[in-house]
Amino acid sequence: MVTEVVYSKKFLEHDQSTHPENAERLRVIIDEIHDSSIVDRLRMKEPSSISEEELFLVHSKEMVEYIRRLSETSGWVDFDTYVCPGSFEIAKLAAGGVVGLAHDVLRGEVENGFALVRPPGHHATGTKSMGFCLFNNVALAANSVAGEGKRVLIFDHDVHHGNGTQEIFYKRDDVLYQSFHLSPHYPGTGSVDEIGEGDGRGFTINAPLPKGCGDETVTFLLDEVFLPIAEQFKPDLVIVSAGFDSHYLDQLGGLSLSANCFAEIIKKFKGVQSRILCSLEGGYNLKLLGRLVLTELEVLVGKKPSYSERVEETNNAKKVADEVKNRVKEYWSF
Ligand SMILES: [Zn+2]
Repeated sequence: MVTEVVYSKKFLEHDQSTHPENAERLRVIIDEIHDSSIVDRLRMKEPSSISEEELFLVHSKEMVEYIRRLSETSGWVDFDTYVCPGSFEIAKLAAGGVVGLAHDVLRGEVENGFALVRPPGHHATGTKSMGFCLFNNVALAANSVAGEGKRVLIFDHDVHHGNGTQEIFYKRDDVLYQSFHLSPHYPGTGSVDEIGEGDGRGFTINAPLPKGCGDETVTFLLDEVFLPIAEQFKPDLVIVSAGFDSHYLDQLGGLSLSANCFAEIIKKFKGVQSRILCSLEGGYNLKLLGRLVLTELEVLVGKKPSYSERVEETNNAKKVADEVKNRVKEYWSF
């Protein structure tokens, strides 16, 4: 079986070199993949754009129209979210890439995959682009798959809480959102009390972590909270919002994950559901980003990771795990 990597050079045209979310991020990832020993085991695929009708299933017409107009010239959606000439089409291509990969994996055309797309998506809500994100790539993919009656689990390992993804599925029980993230930190959401609403109660799981938490904390949370819930939920597809700014050397972070932890996350979720895909979110350390993405790709192709690290951490695992379990214990057994 094959691991599919979705990528287009067009993603490099959404760029602002002085901004941390710039085109160089994808260049270093592609270079690392080309120099790696697994390059022959990957199927590279050019994405197809998402239609505006599909965008409207998740995003408001006003939001889509606003980004389209802004990208005729260029501008800023907010103080940290830029739009270049052409960003509208590039963001549609990024979203289409993740949607296409989700269907390829679900149909069994490929075993699993990684969408190397930009701009990222997990902060984009139904009505608002924000936090470097224009459209919510992962949410559009999950929604598309859920539209065919499938159950989707989204696991978000970015250092920032995926407020957009959470909001989009907050009242639904067919898409389960799980996240650990640094707290307090941008965007300020993701407390343990945010567990969903209506039919969606119990289908949003948040583990906010203090500064310095790392591999041991995350591994404990996976074993005690995230995976037991995932196994009961029985997803048809797992989508990983793959943000590498939770790595201990990321300049926008504050958590202390090592490369080993990213490998462990993918390995464990592969054990729950082999139909799995990763979609690039954050991660701004250009010296390490390629290596970290490669680590997850190595696990996806079934190879032992070639890179490992050891990092000191503050371990808050038990306290956080108990808090999360307490909030959702009427919905899941532990
Ligand atoms: Zn982030």
